[in-house]
Amino acid sequence: MRCLLLLIVVVALSGCDRPSAHSHKQQMYVFGTLVEVIIWTEDEAAATEAMSQLSAQFQHQHQQWHPWEAGELHTFNQQLTTGKPTPTPDSIAPLLQRAIELSVASDGLFDPSLGQLVKLWGFSDNLVNVTQPPDATQLANFIKQAPHITDLEINNGLAQSHNPRLYLDFGGFAKGYAVDRAIETLRQMGFDNAIVNAGGDLRAIGSKGEWPWRIGIRNPRGEGLIASLQISRDESVFTSGDYERFYDYQGKRYHHIIDPRNGYPAEGFSSVTILHHDAATADAAATALLVAGPEQWREVAKKMGLSQVMVITPRGKISMSPAMVKRIRFEVSPEPNINVVDW
Ligand code: AMP
Ligand code: MG
Repeated sequence: MRCLLLLIVVVALSGCDRPSAHSHKQQMYVFGTLVEVIIWTEDEAAATEAMSQLSAQFQHQHQQWHPWEAGELHTFNQQLTTGKPTPTPDSIAPLLQRAIELSVASDGLFDPSLGQLVKLWGFSDNLVNVTQPPDATQLANFIKQAPHITDLEINNGLAQSHNPRLYLDFGGFAKGYAVDRAIETLRQMGFDNAIVNAGGDLRAIGSKGEWPWRIGIRNPRGEGLIASLQISRDESVFTSGDYERFYDYQGKRYHHIIDPRNGYPAEGFSSVTILHHDAATADAAATALLVAGPEQWREVAKKMGLSQVMVITPRGKISMSPAMVKRIRFEVSPEPNINVVDW
C-alpha cells in the first residue's frame, strides 16, 4: 500500500514538473515589415532554435529576392535586360515558376514583370519619397510596350527576355511564398501549432492548445480591426490595400498596386482579403483582385481557385463571397451592412 501511494505521489510530481505548452513569440524586421512568429509548444529550446533558423531564412530570402538591392534577383534582372539567355539562380527558379502560374491564373492582373512601372510610380522603395504621379506620356509609352511575365522564355534553366522593359518584382507575392516556406520549415522541425505573421498577412497551423487561433483583419479606413476570424487547422489570410504605400496628390490617392492594363494604380477597392490554404496563392490573389475591381473580382477569384473573399470599396461598401460570410466576425459596432454576392 505504501509503495502504491509513493508511486502515485511520484507520478503526480512528475506531472507537475513537465513544462506546459505555451506561446513562444519572436519578432523580426524583414521584407520591410515586422514578421512575428508564434510557436505553441512546451519545448522552449526547440522553439528558440526554430526562431533563429527562420530569422536566417527570412534574411537570406530578403537579400536574394530584393528587386533593387544587390542580390541574386537584382543581378538576374540586369542580365535579362541584355536579351541573352541567362541561367535562373536556384534561389529564384521556384519563385519564378510559381509566379508565372499565378499570373496566368489571374489573367495577367497579377504580373511580377512590372518592376520598371512600379519604380516609375516611386513605389520601389519601402519609404515612399515621391509626391506626384509620373508623366502621362511616359506611362502611355510604357504601356504600349508593356512586358508580361509570359514574355520570358524558359528552357533548361535558361531564361530569356525579349522585352527590355521586363524587370521582375515579386513584391506582390514573395511574402506569401516566404510564409509558406517558413511553415514548411516549422513542420520539418516537428511543430504543428504555429503562426507566421508578416505584417498582418499570415498562415496559421494547428491551434493554441484547446483554442483555435483567432486573427484580426485591419480596417482599411480607420484604426484597429474591422473583423476577425477563427483559423481552421491550416489556413492563410492575406489582405492587399490602398493604405499600405501611397501618396495623395491634388486630392487623389495614388497607391502601390498598379493595373497592368493602363499603368495606373488600381481603382475600385481599398482592400481585398483572401482566406485560402496556401499563403503564396492568397498573397498573389489579394493583389490581383484589388486590380480586378468591382466588375471582375468574382471571375478572377474563381479562376484562381478561391472561395473565401472579402472586398471593401473606398466608400466602405463591403462585399463577400458566401463562404467568407460564414467565417467572419465583425469587431466594429454597429455591424456594417454586407453584400453577399452570388458565387
Ligand atoms: P501586395 O501588398 O501584396 O498587394 O503587393 C504590392 C506590391 O506588388 C507592390 O509594392 C509592387 O511591388 C507589386 N505590384 C504592384 N502592382 C502589381 C501587379 N499588378 N502585379 C504584381 N505585382 C504588383
Ligand atoms: Mg499580394
